[in-house]
Amino acid sequence: MIDSRHIEALGQLLGGKGLLTAPADMASYETGARYDKGRAAFVARPASTQEASATVAYCVRNGIALVPQSGNTGLVSGSTPDASGSQGILSLDRLTAVFDLDRVNRTVTAGAGLRLSDVNQRLEQAGLFFPIDLGADPRLGGMIATNTGGSRFLRYGDVRRNTLGLTVVLADEAGTVLELGSGLRKNNTGVDWKQLFIGTSGAFGIVTECVLNLEPLPRQTATAFLVPSSPDRVPDLLVAMEEALGSYLSAFEGMSRNAVSAALAHVPALRNPFQGGHVPDFVILAEICRTSPPRDGEQPLDAVLEEVLAGLWEREDTPLADAFIGPPHEMWALRHGLSEGVKHSGRLIAFDLSFRRGDIMRFLDHMKAEMPRRFENVTICDFGHIGDGGVHFNLVVPADDPRLADAGFEGALRAWVFQIAVEDFGGSYSAEHAIGRKNQVFYDRHTPDEIRRLAAGLKAITSPGPLGSVTF
Ligand SMILES: Cc1cc2nc3c(=O)[nH]c(=O)nc-3n(C[C@H](O)[C@H](O)[C@H](O)COP(=O)(O)OP(=O)(O)OC[C@H]3O[C@@H](n4cnc5c(N)ncnc54)[C@H](O)[C@@H]3O)c2cc1C
Repeated sequence: MIDSRHIEALGQLLGGKGLLTAPADMASYETGARYDKGRAAFVARPASTQEASATVAYCVRNGIALVPQSGNTGLVSGSTPDASGSQGILSLDRLTAVFDLDRVNRTVTAGAGLRLSDVNQRLEQAGLFFPIDLGADPRLGGMIATNTGGSRFLRYGDVRRNTLGLTVVLADEAGTVLELGSGLRKNNTGVDWKQLFIGTSGAFGIVTECVLNLEPLPRQTATAFLVPSSPDRVPDLLVAMEEALGSYLSAFEGMSRNAVSAALAHVPALRNPFQGGHVPDFVILAEICRTSPPRDGEQPLDAVLEEVLAGLWEREDTPLADAFIGPPHEMWALRHGLSEGVKHSGRLIAFDLSFRRGDIMRFLDHMKAEMPRRFENVTICDFGHIGDGGVHFNLVVPADDPRLADAGFEGALRAWVFQIAVEDFGGSYSAEHAIGRKNQVFYDRHTPDEIRRLAAGLKAITSPGPLGSVTF
């Protein structure tokens, strides 16, 4: 329990809207996107960098631990407090006032509390967007702390590649505010400190503002579902599409039959697009786009895609078994419905893995053979960003399976999968969700001692106060 004098002092710093302590008001902040439920001492909601700084300084001076939270869509228990009731949540959801578009520089300076959908809605008029695309609607601060990847990484990269500057509050006794970079695209005048705060789960400091690179909105888009002639030909298909389409190719997403079937079963708005309703073993959603408006005499994008697919189809050793072009919004609706579908198929144990692109299908093949031998009655419902080596390796266990009552079951399953992914296949156990409480044990296990010492040293210099749900 937190001393009431701290609640009083924080209330004075933040005002009525800025501090929540009633259980009903805190409930949604204490509950994560997937099965998390913690207990908070309070929810602090600063409305400016200065208020964030004052709150953090007070908490550090009084030994009060803070967990930063933005959109609370993270999937590794990073944004919610533990069960102790002693941690405060530092929500950035009121940091929405700053939005300063620089049309010529193609950047926006924005508050960390803005939602991705709000940012992109406001940019639409200018024909621009922040090019990170995913099936959730996070806030900018959380996207920076997790270095979100998403479905168009292949073309635009991750948040890191699109972040030019940050304002950060450090968890020290002064609540030091750092301005790291501005709208400069080139600046090599020393250490690029902003990188320390991207993808590090909020442990080194709290992001309150950012300067983001923007891209021209796609004006023409075409999508197709591609069925590979066999799963091991998926890498050939990817390389062939890249060779034929160059920078037009903006997404190459893989979906297993189990994941697609789960989405079709549990997301009522979806339509089964496959002939006779037969979902293939593995299917790719490929997208191409142009940012220029259609011009007279120019070949439409659907025709470009059709021509490329026909060329692949005619090859003697074609990696394609089938392909069809369809409306982008319908095809993406299926892709974005996969998370929801697998979540409702039983108890979901989700992994966010990445590999060198050529190893993904080998890994999946290996796991399909090994899983029933090692863990019976666990269904693999994988999908992922094949174009950038990412796999959402989802395992579904029947909701009434007695093993779920055993606290050791999920841990053993996770340890086994990570061991194979990291040690045998040279992959990453967290491709794009960063590290939260869920991944702490695997950070400790799979990070070399010298790297852990270095990270702990940097943490002690930047934010020595108790901050975040990860111990570096
Ligand atoms: C349906 C669904 C689909 C998803 N698909 C993808 C996907 O394709 N690709 C992908 O990368 N992710 C995906 N995610 C995961 C999630 O949406 C991203 O990790 C997202 O970027 C998290 O942002 P958030 O605002 O929700 O952050 P939160 O969940 O609030 O926080 C995430 C982490 O960042 C820290 N943090 C939050 N705000 C700040 C701040 N201002 N300063 C410092 N630290 C902070 C938190 O302490 C926590 O550790 C998906 C999630 C869902 C539910």
